[in-house]
Amino acid sequence: MPDVESKKLQMVDLVTQYQSIKKEIDETVLHVLESGQYILGKAVEDFEKACASYLGVKHAIGCASGTDALQVGLMALGIKPGDEIVTTSFTFVATTETIVLLGGVPVYVDIDPKTFNIDPARIESAITKRTKAILPVHLYGHPCDMDPIRELSQKYGIPIVEDAAQAMGAEYKGKMVGGIGAVGAISFFPSKNLGAYGDGGMVVTNDDRLAELIRMITIHGSRIRYRHEILGVNSRLDALQAAILSVKLKYLDMWNKARRSSAEIYTRLLSGRDVVTPSEDEYAHHIFHQYTVRLKHRDAVARVLASKSIPHAIYYPIPLHLQEAFKSVGKPKGSLPITEQATEEVLSLPMHSELAEDQQRSVVDHLLRAVEQSKSVS
Ligand SMILES: *Cc1c(COP(=O)(O)O)cnc(C)c1O
Repeated sequence: MPDVESKKLQMVDLVTQYQSIKKEIDETVLHVLESGQYILGKAVEDFEKACASYLGVKHAIGCASGTDALQVGLMALGIKPGDEIVTTSFTFVATTETIVLLGGVPVYVDIDPKTFNIDPARIESAITKRTKAILPVHLYGHPCDMDPIRELSQKYGIPIVEDAAQAMGAEYKGKMVGGIGAVGAISFFPSKNLGAYGDGGMVVTNDDRLAELIRMITIHGSRIRYRHEILGVNSRLDALQAAILSVKLKYLDMWNKARRSSAEIYTRLLSGRDVVTPSEDEYAHHIFHQYTVRLKHRDAVARVLASKSIPHAIYYPIPLHLQEAFKSVGKPKGSLPITEQATEEVLSLPMHSELAEDQQRSVVDHLLRAVEQSKSVS
């Protein structure tokens, strides 16, 4: 069988997507360049409005990245040194990094092995007097089971901060994620489902007071120029990125639909084989930021795929509670067995809105052969 055209097949294909909307993007970029308004201004306001309306939230405040969106959200909630935040260890580093930067303590609970998201049934026993937030992550684009988390949030009066960096357009029981908790954080990193052509992020909330705080924090803690009321940061969405994102937002549902179709194709091609395909819970509208399977002998399979230049990735190989950077707040190996097992078994396949079925067939052929091969060596 001929090898995959490895030049074209990639984990994400940002250039092909750009080509499909090049005219609109180029026009809007030029328009911003000619406007002279490069920080905040109309392009950012327009995109914030469009984003709030898309997500069904009252307020959307642009910032410089998804990481900043998390940090600013936590700052607005008043997270102080020693405050505990109940969260997941099976996620991108930013989720814990922002907590620790503010002096907070991540309190990790294990995940649901089916969705890879925080297991709501394990949250309550992790709550203490010092718990100041619950921080679920909608990993890979699959929403967390939010109702039980909301019940706990209400019962204990603890706000929810949603990390929706991978889940723009995902729905929980028909409601867009990001706007379900007190604060939601979105990332526009280029490879995310709604990606800018640079860094960008958004904090969303339905709470007027929090919205005002968030807005102030992103501009050095000030409402009136040179008057600084609270401690802030410099974290704004570029006008150029906002204008680009306004164009791209119109296509997001179409692109998410394309991802879902590609996911269906993978799942069909992999059914009945020694590969655990991703599931979609009945409450979920999954947007497949990643298509992530579970495998025995994952590392052996990954080595075979690498030797054939078949794109694949491991999100994430080391859980955050075992990361060197978070030693002071970590947990011993073995303390989160489901998370740790996931880090040993997950493998993500190429996934983007431009994926072609023949490329997927080729990926699956190589994957299945690698699975067979790794069985015989181990
Ligand atoms: C990408 C990502 C972030 C951070 O977003 P940036 O825009 O890259 O700063 C945070 N959390 C999760 C789960 C992510 O995937």
